[in-house]
Amino acid sequence: MNRKYRKTLIAGNWKMNKTPSETKAFMTELKAILPRGRWCDIALCVPSVCIPAAVRATRDTRVGIGAENCNANASGAYTGEISTSMLVDAGCKYVIIGHSERREMGETDAEVNAKTLAALNAGLIPIVCCGETLEQRESGITEEWITMQIKLALAGISEDKIRKVVIAYEPIWAIGTGKTATPEQAEEVCQHIRTVVRKLFGSKNARATTILYGGSMNDKNAYELLAQPDIDGGLIGGASLVPEKFVKIIEDANQPTT
Ligand code: PEP
Repeated sequence: MNRKYRKTLIAGNWKMNKTPSETKAFMTELKAILPRGRWCDIALCVPSVCIPAAVRATRDTRVGIGAENCNANASGAYTGEISTSMLVDAGCKYVIIGHSERREMGETDAEVNAKTLAALNAGLIPIVCCGETLEQRESGITEEWITMQIKLALAGISEDKIRKVVIAYEPIWAIGTGKTATPEQAEEVCQHIRTVVRKLFGSKNARATTILYGGSMNDKNAYELLAQPDIDGGLIGGASLVPEKFVKIIEDANQPTT
């Protein structure tokens, strides 16, 4: 991480876990042990039905609430979908876009791009995910794949908006598997992502872009991952469901500025 040039963000992704009542109980526990220091931004992206409970419970804290998906259209006949303006009105600050679990359900790069643009227009901070499969890594095409995903996801974003985008590198083989990328593997790809952003948006914007690592990050391995120069935080699934583990990761982000 490099706190001099960019924000550190520790973000949780609850996926399809916790009810609204469990959300309230979680936030009460979290608030009791949340560190007072302000060395990083904190986000919790929760299931849509939990957003009101999460927003209410964190109103007097510095935890920002996010959604796990959005629809790129402003409104209309899209049964079951949720627009970015609905998320803003509900109190969201963040939205995860292009998570591999949604891509697995058929989300395309074009949709990821449209959702990213819609989120930015609504004033949300998009956490845009990219990542390779184990097969792609083993065939040596990780960099090409990530370059393509980033170029497509960020197409059409204006120079004044790019700094609002958070990019999350999440190797698919490491998500929910307990197999974390080594700090060197994670750093290599996050550094590559910064190079791609530099080519697209210039070096000042690349230096200011927050890039997260996600994939079995937990209270045991976070410090070393976060110590890498191009890893500015984490997108955390399983470990964000347990207040003590999530707080330990937040504490691990309190590292000397390089
Ligand atoms: C995720 O859901 O984005 C994730 C990284 O999950 P986990 O931490 O459980 O691997």
